[in-house]
Amino acid sequence: MDIRPDVELRGFNTLALPGRAAHFATVTDLDEAQVALAFARERGLAVTVLGAGSNVVLAGDLPGLLIRVAIRGRALVAQGGDQLELRLGAGEDWPATVEYSLAQGWYGLENLALIPGTVGAAPVQNIGAYGVELAQRFVALEALEIATGALRRFDRGECAFGYRDSFFKRAGRDRWLIVSVTLALCRTPHLVLDYPALRAALAEHPPGPLTPAAVAAAVCALRRARLPDPAVLPNAGSFFENPVVPAEQAQALAARFPGLVTFPAPGGRVKLAAAWLIEQCGWKGVARDGVAVHDRQALVLIHRGGGARALLALAAAIRASVRAHFGVELIPEPRILGGHWS
Ligand SMILES: Cc1cc2nc3c(=O)[nH]c(=O)nc-3n(C[C@H](O)[C@H](O)[C@H](O)COP(=O)(O)OP(=O)(O)OC[C@H]3O[C@@H](n4cnc5c(N)ncnc54)[C@H](O)[C@@H]3O)c2cc1C
Repeated sequence: MDIRPDVELRGFNTLALPGRAAHFATVTDLDEAQVALAFARERGLAVTVLGAGSNVVLAGDLPGLLIRVAIRGRALVAQGGDQLELRLGAGEDWPATVEYSLAQGWYGLENLALIPGTVGAAPVQNIGAYGVELAQRFVALEALEIATGALRRFDRGECAFGYRDSFFKRAGRDRWLIVSVTLALCRTPHLVLDYPALRAALAEHPPGPLTPAAVAAAVCALRRARLPDPAVLPNAGSFFENPVVPAEQAQALAARFPGLVTFPAPGGRVKLAAAWLIEQCGWKGVARDGVAVHDRQALVLIHRGGGARALLALAAAIRASVRAHFGVELIPEPRILGGHWS
C-alpha cells in the first residue's frame, strides 16, 4: 500500500471542493487499514476516514492522514427460512450493492436505491430514503479503533441509530474505521410503500404484482427527477437535516404558516420539511459567488467553483433566515472536514 504525501482532494468529494491531505492512503483490506493506522499512530497524525466523499464539505487542508476506505467483498454469512445475512466490505459501492441484492432475489434495500456512497459510510448517518432507514436492515458492523487498531464488532443497539444519526456521529466520531457491515435481507418481498411520493409514482405501475425491482426503479426515477447528479452539478445531497420539533411547536407553526409540510417522528415529535422552510424564505434557485441553491430541490446546495468559503456563507445565510422566519434551527447534514460550521 502506498501512503502518498500532499494529495489534492477535489476528485475525492462530490462537491468537488479543493483541499489537500498531508498524507493519503487508499486501503483495500483489513491489513492495509491496520498499516495505515499504525503509520498515523507512530507519527502522531490525526486520521480522517473517507468513503466516496458524498456527505462531506471539505473546508480546508487536512494536516494528518486521510484514509480512503476501498475494502471490497460480499459474503452470505447466514441463511435460514426467509432470512439471510449479507456481509459487505465497507468500500463496496452502496448503489451497486442494492442492484446486486435485487439481482440475487434478496430483498429489503429497494427503497434505498441510488443513494451515493460506500457501504461503510451508510451506518454513520443511518442512511434513509422513501420510508426506509439502514437501521431496519442492519445486523452488525466491524470497525478498527483508530487509536489502537483493535477490531471490534458493534451490534445494532451499540450503534445507537437515530434519524440521520448514530454512535459514529457522536461519542464514536473520529474513533472508528468501519471495515464491514452485515445486513439482514429477505427472500420474499416485504414492500414498504408508506412514503406518499413513492406510492403516487407506483400508482401508474402497470397491472400485475409489484416487485422489489419495480419499487427500486420508481425510487431511482424519483431521485433522478429531483436530485442533481454530482458528476454534472457538484453537490452533497441534502445539505440540511429535516428539523424534528416538539408537537406543540409544530402546531403553533402550522397555525401561523398554512401549508407547513410535516411528517410524524418518533416519540410524538414532528419532522418539518427543511426544503419547504428554505423555499418559503426565497432561497430556491438563488445563485451567488460561485455557489447556488438547486432550482428544483431547495435542500441541495451546488458548488460552481466558488469554493468552501462561499458555500459555507450561503449555508449560514440560509440557516439565519430560516431561524428568523420560523424560529427553527437547521442542522447541516454533511460532515465538515478541515473547518467549522459558522
Ligand atoms: C446526490 C446525493 C443524494 C443523497 N441522498 C441521500 C439520501 O437519500 N439519504 C441519505 O441518507 N443520504 C443521502 N446522501 C448522502 C450520502 O449519500 C450518504 O451520507 C452516504 O452514506 C455517504 O457515503 P460516502 O461513502 O460518500 O461517505 P463520505 O462522504 O466519504 O463520509 C461521510 C462520513 O462518514 C464517515 N465515514 C465514511 N466511511 C467510513 C468508514 N468506513 N468508517 C468510518 N467512518 C466512515 C466519514 O468520516 C464522514 O464523516 C446523498 C448524497 C448525494 C451526493
